[in-house]
Amino acid sequence: MSIISVLNPKGGSGKTTISTNLARSLHEQGHSVLIVDSDPQGSARDWHAASEDNPIELVALDRPNNVKTLASMAANYDYVVIDGAAKLEDMIAACIKVSDFVLIPVQPSPYDIWAASDLVEFIKARQEVTDGSPRAGFVVSRIVEGTRLGSDVRTALDDYALPVCDTTITQRQVYPQTASEGLTVFDADNAKARAETTALSDEILAMLA
Ligand code: ADP
Ligand code: MG
Repeated sequence: MSIISVLNPKGGSGKTTISTNLARSLHEQGHSVLIVDSDPQGSARDWHAASEDNPIELVALDRPNNVKTLASMAANYDYVVIDGAAKLEDMIAACIKVSDFVLIPVQPSPYDIWAASDLVEFIKARQEVTDGSPRAGFVVSRIVEGTRLGSDVRTALDDYALPVCDTTITQRQVYPQTASEGLTVFDADNAKARAETTALSDEILAMLA
């Protein structure tokens, strides 16, 4: 069992979109997966409720104290994907503590990357007392198709000295379109979106191995 948290205090970075699609990608590969919605805003809950036959199970955890109970629940699954809360330091700290891997989605803008600095500090402080756990890495999210990562974005990411996934998640209508029906890109006719999502989950599994 591994716990993957998708965290970034900044709203709109793509946490919920990536959590739901990543969870489904792991499910497509035959793993048992639980999504944990740790955001009181409840976007993942809304997504889950929008489809009657969602193949992924979801639980909501609103209070940091409840995160501690997650380990026993998680034991029944191959992977637990936690959709992170915005601006709730206690919740984010609790998620970091239980995670094996923290995925940090960032939009390709230096402002968004600079805004991740407190989170990165927090993760590194935790890694120091635990001999490197949780591992962590960035994924650039919502990049416009056909554009390359600007050198300002690369430099800003390099400064954090955390791995950056080779896979980027592109800004595509299929993500909100499928989300509105409680679905994922695996339910849509969009091979590029499926391919990038699968590549991301493969990269994360490789980093966890
Ligand atoms: P967060 O959970 O970090 O606040 P969301 O996943 O809810 O971010 O994304 C914020 C908004 O951007 C939502 O409206 C979502 O549908 C949209 N969005 C996120 N990722 C993408 C993407 N790759 N392509 C298009 N729209 C996206
Ligand atoms: Mg969200």
